[in-house]
Amino acid sequence: MRAAVVRVWGQPLVLDEVDTPHPGPGDVRVRLTVSGVCHSDVHQWKGGWPAERAVMESLGIRILGHEGVGLVDELGPGASRLRLGDRVGVPWMNSWCGACDVCLTGYPQWCPNSRTTSVSVNGTFAEYATVSERAAVPVPATIEDADAAPLMCAGVTAYGAVRRLVSELRIPPGKIVAVVGGAGGLGHYAIQIAKALGYRVAGVDVGPERVQFMARLGAEWALDASEAKDRIRKLGGADASLVFTPKIAGYELALKLTRLVGGVVAVGIPDPAEGPLPVTPSGLISHGTRVIPTSVGVTHEFEELFQLYDRGLVRGHVARRGTLGDLSTILQDMAEAKYVGRAVVSL
Ligand SMILES: [Zn+2]
Ligand SMILES: [Zn+2]
Repeated sequence: MRAAVVRVWGQPLVLDEVDTPHPGPGDVRVRLTVSGVCHSDVHQWKGGWPAERAVMESLGIRILGHEGVGLVDELGPGASRLRLGDRVGVPWMNSWCGACDVCLTGYPQWCPNSRTTSVSVNGTFAEYATVSERAAVPVPATIEDADAAPLMCAGVTAYGAVRRLVSELRIPPGKIVAVVGGAGGLGHYAIQIAKALGYRVAGVDVGPERVQFMARLGAEWALDASEAKDRIRKLGGADASLVFTPKIAGYELALKLTRLVGGVVAVGIPDPAEGPLPVTPSGLISHGTRVIPTSVGVTHEFEELFQLYDRGLVRGHVARRGTLGDLSTILQDMAEAKYVGRAVVSL
């Protein structure tokens, strides 16, 4: 099969013919039609995430991408839920065990026996990919391939972050939620999702173009980061802040925006070289701040997101379309933050 392969970290991907994978027990193979491009791909491509890089090197994983959509074309031994021809997504979570205490308490994203697409299993910048049928995402016929692809990571991660307001933080609709990085690939979904669920949304990002974009998405307040602290404090503070910006500065701002006993939901992953979060136990305790992590999403979260999509309450913004051969340019442009919205390649 044709695939875009990482030969040297950070160097242009190489279009190559590689062995077509076959599905293992409980897995299916998907003939992909499209793949989204995620900011995580940029980090992985550059070798900038040491843990993921070590796993990729030890397992020989060289194909990035975790926002694939296509048709099931081969069933592995024991696979019985999906059928040949089913249209599914291949997301970041490639499998989880479903039997450990982490899975059984509702957090399969942290399953110690899980596999992740593009880290421990080759990814979706290729004609074919494999995924466990448990983790494959049935995609409704009402959502086109290019719209469905970015939902596989960006959309569902944004949905999962907003869902934490209810499931972990017990912050009801009607409260003020700051979306830090609200014009970005994940944040632009989060603004729409939080609004659809009834929250009052303050979008925060940098520069007039991004601020206007957040206003068009429906943010009640669309704020430049430079004015966010003063404006949101005048409102009494945000009940919660969702941090999509992959910068420590985004977390510093979120901690300042959030009112007493508020929540900070951690989504964006800064470069490890930026160092740790600037919080002290005494600061956390005196403000009562609850910091909650979130990571991608699984089955029921996709279903709930698709329902919002079907009702017209959430829309993606695909800014770039291309083919496998365009991926290197797209990754480089993403690294330089050259455009707003998501990229999708045909396979
Ligand atoms: Zn992603
Ligand atoms: Zn598990």
